[in-house]
Amino acid sequence: MSIVIIGAGLAGATAATELREQGYEGEIVLIGAETTPPYERPPLSKGYLLGNDAFEKALVHPEPWYAEHDIDLRLGTRATAIDRERRVVHVEPASGGESTGGGQSTEIPYEQLLLATGASSRPLHMDGVGEFLTLRSREDSTRLKEAFHAGTKVAIVGAGWIGLEVAAAAREAGSEVTVFEQAAVPLERVLGAEIGAVFADLHRGHGVDLRMSTQVTADDLKSADVRIAAIGVTPDIALAEAAGLELATREQGGGVLVDASLRTSDPRIFAIGDIANHDHPVLAVRIRVEHWDTAIEQGKAVARTLAGTDTPYERLPYFFTDQYDLGMEYVGSPGPDGYDRVDIEGETDALHGDAFRAFWVRGDAVVAAMHVNDWDASEVIRDSIGSRRAVTAEPVSAESVSTEPASTESVSTEPAPVDSGAAQ
Ligand SMILES: Cc1cc2nc3c(=O)[nH]c(=O)nc-3n(C[C@H](O)[C@H](O)[C@H](O)COP(=O)(O)OP(=O)(O)OC[C@H]3O[C@@H](n4cnc5c(N)ncnc54)[C@H](O)[C@@H]3O)c2cc1C
Repeated sequence: MSIVIIGAGLAGATAATELREQGYEGEIVLIGAETTPPYERPPLSKGYLLGNDAFEKALVHPEPWYAEHDIDLRLGTRATAIDRERRVVHVEPASGGESTGGGQSTEIPYEQLLLATGASSRPLHMDGVGEFLTLRSREDSTRLKEAFHAGTKVAIVGAGWIGLEVAAAAREAGSEVTVFEQAAVPLERVLGAEIGAVFADLHRGHGVDLRMSTQVTADDLKSADVRIAAIGVTPDIALAEAAGLELATREQGGGVLVDASLRTSDPRIFAIGDIANHDHPVLAVRIRVEHWDTAIEQGKAVARTLAGTDTPYERLPYFFTDQYDLGMEYVGSPGPDGYDRVDIEGETDALHGDAFRAFWVRGDAVVAAMHVNDWDASEVIRDSIGSRRAVTAEPVSAESVSTEPASTESVSTEPAPVDSGAAQ
């Protein structure tokens, strides 16, 4: 029985790995448009971009591992169409790349198909302004690294995760950095005004010219040596769409609709990672998560289903960031209903090394929690949501969360171990 995986990124490579770990002995074909073996992207805006880590640290496995585990890895190969009736995937050499493996075959048959095509950076074009660089691939990161020098003027459009991490890396290289953002504080949509302000102070304290509530114009960008668009990503759903799979609406968050077990509207086809709009059985909402932990854990869960044990994906969203000396972890999701209040425990001057915790509360439940610089709190923030305690304390604190009686229903929020150690 043949399983074909389209997308040799973190999600696709993890699924292939887990299939072998589950004892699946059938054929696995892993198709990737990039010429580099599967790798983790977080280092592209952190250790690798900063010049602290070699790129190899980001690889999911060294290249020979795939052949050693009888995984037919076809790099530099783009899937161009899915014929669901004949159950074949059409492929061709990706532009600029040489295909490896599989000779000249342009049709690959499948019994089960997994889509893990990820996302692409949203491009930005402005009249009278030169090229905007973006950051998604190894090549993009190398290009930025080479551009960041003492005195280089770097303009970044967007103060989301990528914009801020790139700003930190550029500052650490000695560049002059200006960030333009429409919202009133960085990360406002995800973290809200209170915690967004912490990131604003952190970056200003490190010398970033942070221009908030700003609609950037061509004039603003005239003097920049390097312009970077960090305005989000678009899930790569063209193949799924052309194959007639059901897609999520914009309001639902976009991507390919999958059920609790990550199955698309075609029972032989699954989707995971950045493209998957998942019917989350615990959150009881549809959610599409563009994060490292989800790529890994959905890869593992879907592999079990593909290998014959139907495995609903129940884990809560988790993500992390590193900027300057600030490290943080966040678990949960307020979802479309949002939150009533955010309780902050500790001093929030992250620029001077403060450590704190924050709990987003709706009704009597913590719906999301994070810590900044307090790695001892990793467990408690996971547990505050994982155990689904009814919270009575106001404000919520690490201690109150630990002493509230937990309900019997619990959810897995433990982040996955990082093979390469690259992501943190
Ligand atoms: C710079 C950067 C930093 C990040 N930092 C963090 C972080 O700190 N914390 C965090 O939680 N998350 C972070 N993320 C997000 C995380 O990396 C993504 O959520 C994760 O990579 C998603 O994995 P994926 O396998 O779904 O998609 P991808 O990693 O995008 O992989 C998809 C692969 O599929 C290939 N592909 C697409 N279409 C085709 C086709 N038709 N044929 C063949 N191949 C195809 C693509 O070329 C790509 O290689 C970061 C992302 C970036 C870009």
